[in-house]
Order: sequence, then C-alpha cells, then structure tokens
Amino acid sequence: MSLTPFACSVHTHATLCDGKDTLEAMAAAAYGAGVRYYGVSCHSHTPIPVDEGAVLPADMTAYRAEVLRLRAEYEGRMEILLGLEWDSCADVEPEGFDYWIGSVHYEKGTNGKYYAADWGEEHFLACQDELCGGNPLGVTELYYREMARVAERKPPILGHFDIITKHNEGGKLFDETAPRYQAAALEALHAADPAGSLLEINTGGVSRGYRTTPYPAPFLLREWKAMGGKIILTADSHSADTIVSGYGQAAELAKAAGFEKTTLLTLSGPVECPL
Ligand SMILES: [Zn+2]
Ligand SMILES: [Zn+2]
Repeated sequence: MSLTPFACSVHTHATLCDGKDTLEAMAAAAYGAGVRYYGVSCHSHTPIPVDEGAVLPADMTAYRAEVLRLRAEYEGRMEILLGLEWDSCADVEPEGFDYWIGSVHYEKGTNGKYYAADWGEEHFLACQDELCGGNPLGVTELYYREMARVAERKPPILGHFDIITKHNEGGKLFDETAPRYQAAALEALHAADPAGSLLEINTGGVSRGYRTTPYPAPFLLREWKAMGGKIILTADSHSADTIVSGYGQAAELAKAAGFEKTTLLTLSGPVECPL
C-alpha cells in the first residue's frame, strides 16, 4: 500500500475536551476519510479556571482507557494512537503517551493573569496594555518566549508554532514583517531540536474560518528546512468533518518551503511519505 499524507491525522480533539464530536464519531470519520493512523490529542489539564470542561481532567486514566478501547475496536483496520496536546501551563506531565504535541495557548502575566494567545483581539489588547506597555510586539515576544520553553522540552510535535497570528490577518494587531517580530519567532524556533521534534503544518485555523493560510508562516518553514527539520501535516480537528481538512493547501505550503516529504506517525514509529 502506498501511503499519502492523508493517511495520518494525529492532531484531533473530541467531546472529552473541547471537540464537537465524540471519540467514536471522530474515529469513524477518520476511517471513512482514508486515515489509517489516527491520533487522539485532547487538551491537557491546566489550573486555569476558564479551561475547566474544555480540557481533560488531571487524572487521565479514563481518557487513556477510552482511547485504548477504541484502538482494540479498530485493530487491523486503522491504528489509533494515544496522544496529548500538552499546554505550556499544564499541571500534568506529558508522560505515558504514544506522542504529544507541545502547544502554547496562554501567556501568563507577572500579575497572575492568563491571556489567551488565540482568543482574539480583546485578549491580545489586554495583554498588550497590562503587560507590554502598549507594544503589540511585546505580546508576541512573550508568546515566543513561552514557545521556546516548550520547544526545549523536545515535544514529538511542535503545535501551531505561530498561533499568535491567528487573528492577525492583514496585520490588524501587529506587523508580521517587522524584524523584531520575526527575530522573536526565529529565536523560539532555534530553541527546537530538528532531530527531536516535528513541526506541524496546522490547518485548524483555516477550517474554522479564522485564517486563509495554515500555521506556520513561510519564513518559519524555510528556516526549519534549513535547520534540517521535518514536518507533519495536521488538521487540529475539532469535528468529524475536518479530520484531514486543508491537507492539499498544507502540502503546497510545505513544497514551496522546499520540503519534499511529510511524516506520518504510526504505532511503530514515524514514517516518511512524499508530499
Ligand atoms: Zn492548540
Ligand atoms: Zn489542538
């Protein structure tokens, strides 16, 4: 069987965290879409009050059991990987999983407040005014400092590397071409280990209508290529109809940055496949 990028989707959520569809419905949709390596990566628990209910409980025993039960159900047809999208503010360790995705969703202020990195203008501007002296690039620097801390832990997958741009199309909040912005983003990327982490090309912001292009920006992809890094296509799917959404566009973006292959995660380890 020759593999294509569409055979793998390992950044997915379900009703166990903030997804719209059940694990069963997601797995059925993945199988129907031709996915043969389906990974469940629900959000890790954090101490942040607004996260309650949108993330897994701190005790992940039931989560593991549910995913493993589904794995047994699909055995011989589709591999089901037990993953975790680990947040930089998590109060659990990403241990005992087939893989984990290291992501930043919040900037934690010295004032004890959490500012969501991807919840829109209001959060961005509050962070800008309350922590960064009104400077939007300060917000992005805080974000990338946090991203660098995650990268240093060598997550198997680096999650939506520049999600701080989620609500910034057209440069509404800050200038993505500013040298200061790009320097902060590159510094975080340089904290990553190309031999220890895959950089995901994540289409979730596109399928959910926030953006017209996947994460991350071309300059980051080109730099990752120059560093000798590898990529993986992911959909950050929160519903059964977006399991491999936007993979064609993600593949084009990868090719434009010089990549010829993507990586599929399987239960026997990573496998490369042509884009
Ligand atoms: Zn995420
Ligand atoms: Zn996610």
